[in-house]
Amino acid sequence: MTQSILDRLQSDYPDIPPVVRLKAALLFFGLRTEKGVVRALVEAGDWAFPNFMPHHLSPDFPAYRGARQVPFPYLLRLADDTQVRLRLKEDSPFTLRHIDGTSLPELESTDLAWTDEHQQAPLTEAPQGQAYALYELDRRITTLSFEPRLLWSDALTADGTPFKATGLSQHGDMLVLNPAPGCEYFVAPFGHEKRNLSCQFCLYGLPDQRMSSLGQKLFQAELPEAHLQRICEACAHPQTQARHLYLVSGSMVDMAEEGKRFVQLARALNKAGLTDRYYVACGSGAIPKESMLEMKALGVRGACFNLEVWDPEQFERVCPGKSNFVGRERWIQSLMDAVEVFGEGNVMSAFVGGAELDGEGAFEDQEAALKSNLEGAEFLLSRRIQPIYSLHWKMTGKQRGLEPIYSLDHFLQLNRGLADARRRHGLLINPEFFCRRCAYMQLEPDYDHWWTDTMVESP
Ligand code: SF4
Repeated sequence: MTQSILDRLQSDYPDIPPVVRLKAALLFFGLRTEKGVVRALVEAGDWAFPNFMPHHLSPDFPAYRGARQVPFPYLLRLADDTQVRLRLKEDSPFTLRHIDGTSLPELESTDLAWTDEHQQAPLTEAPQGQAYALYELDRRITTLSFEPRLLWSDALTADGTPFKATGLSQHGDMLVLNPAPGCEYFVAPFGHEKRNLSCQFCLYGLPDQRMSSLGQKLFQAELPEAHLQRICEACAHPQTQARHLYLVSGSMVDMAEEGKRFVQLARALNKAGLTDRYYVACGSGAIPKESMLEMKALGVRGACFNLEVWDPEQFERVCPGKSNFVGRERWIQSLMDAVEVFGEGNVMSAFVGGAELDGEGAFEDQEAALKSNLEGAEFLLSRRIQPIYSLHWKMTGKQRGLEPIYSLDHFLQLNRGLADARRRHGLLINPEFFCRRCAYMQLEPDYDHWWTDTMVESP
């Protein structure tokens, strides 16, 4: 008989909160690729907040509204408000059913939107509340829905630009603004040649057609004023239902120039009153302290400069652009500067849990990787910098989508160690900056929320 993964995790990690075990398992396994589930997800794409990558329908399905690449829900929202990024895997033990426990039906030839003649069939309406039940094998776990597409994402700016074409996206109660997505590390000038020095796991920063519609030019910091105006209009929409605004962009090879870009952005948001409305955080690469001070004066409250990988050799291997153009020591110094500028609880650095175990030259020993990451957490927390880890999803290379099974256990062990370290250092995740309504790939806010909610006193 197949052993339940949740039972196995409960017996191996009884000290890890159940919600954290469930979220980690869902992040690792996703939902099973069953025809009824895929059909329901494609139809939910009519109303749910979409993943930035469309779903490619398999040959088992006809086109949906005449298209083979279709919008797909980005985020699951569990009954207790836990947020989880959605993925599909063939061998997942998790599936969806209707809330009454009946199976989701497969497609029938009479389903209009799935026939070529009916590209204009009425859109599927968003159900009220939690419409689905999550099952592990035959055991009901909880109910869930998908994060809906909110009104702002279909609105237009005064000059007719769709809000969603301004670089704005949403993870639960966090707006994420990326007005310059092309990362210069993909085409890094190296002497007389250009090289791809992008981070090994990254697809998102690839310079592509998104740049031209946003008016981004590589190696140029300044953002077009007209575009800043559109961004401010979009962020000012009254129904974003967001409380955090996180600013990101592709990296620049010159950190001073990157600092200027974020200051320009902060100035525009400040002028529009948006630094009062949202907790605005700067998610740039490492930037000079002068830029941080300017942003702080403009109302930016937090900073997150992502080191991605802690071990020095692995950092150089996995993040050659960051390593060459900034360097690990300068990156860490920039994080320490940020604590001085923004204060403790307002500085984080994100890591990709497992990237150091992947690819040629990776750590061969999981224990060594875990030890290195936890040493890194001690170093950072003692300097009042919060490390946060997302689970490494293989999105690139021939083995994409096929993470080794140890990733799940490694991720849980790592999160348990990080949670212990946060409590020892008296520095839990600041929910003003990052909370469980927006953490869709990380476990730290869920862990800390559980501790503060469940434990009357700290051990
Ligand atoms: S710095 Fe790395 S992770 Fe960030 S966009 Fe560039 S390649 Fe991607």
